[in-house]
Amino acid sequence: MALRVTFIGSGNAFADGGRSHACIHVSAPGVSLLLDCGGSSLPAIKQEIDPEAIDAIAISHLHGDHFGGIPYLVVEQHFAGRTAPLAVGGPRGLPERLRAAESALYPDFFRKTKIRFAISETVLGASETEMGGALVSALPVKHVAEAEPHGLRVRVGDKLIAYSGDATWSDELARVAKGADLFICDASFFDTDDPSHISYRTLMAQRDKLDCKRIVLTHLGAETLARIGELDLEHAVDGTGLVV
Ligand SMILES: [Zn+2]
Ligand SMILES: [Zn+2]
Repeated sequence: MALRVTFIGSGNAFADGGRSHACIHVSAPGVSLLLDCGGSSLPAIKQEIDPEAIDAIAISHLHGDHFGGIPYLVVEQHFAGRTAPLAVGGPRGLPERLRAAESALYPDFFRKTKIRFAISETVLGASETEMGGALVSALPVKHVAEAEPHGLRVRVGDKLIAYSGDATWSDELARVAKGADLFICDASFFDTDDPSHISYRTLMAQRDKLDCKRIVLTHLGAETLARIGELDLEHAVDGTGLVV
């Protein structure tokens, strides 16, 4: 089965280069899910797909540039007349953080409105959960502990897509990527070894430990963008589409 991957948002938290926050759409016949839905994702989604086509959202970790767009999407879909259910999955703390975001952003709407469609919330972990027609699992990675960081693995038929979320190098990251047809990896930095994000240089130094067929860089920060011509790996821009 061919999977289509669309990088709706390929930017970091600071939207360096004018890129939108993290949001990746995975689709195939009977499959439609987002990996992350950052704060600026709704306008970016509307550039690429009909939001109503999204059946599920899997969240890598609890930073605003990865989950902050969900309340906007829910409000928009309610007024758009959606009736199809929406599944949301992520770290254990996701429901509490979503309630806090909802009451900060649209307390009137979320307190008073009977939302037209069902929203289910699931904790993702090492065992696979069906989401949006795919089987999704989540493995811990090293980023900022309070954000409950996980890498995601998305299996559809015989295809496996792995996504680092935000992560610095650790053996856990190699476990996330293991066996993937496509590994989508954080590239916030080119050669700065930040405690929360892997650099491109470190990724290349560890390339032999990553058992995956193809790597595409996303979450590009200013340092990486300034040296984009030196990358020996593929990188996404907002709107990049590829087939796995
Ligand atoms: Zn981020
Ligand atoms: Zn983060």
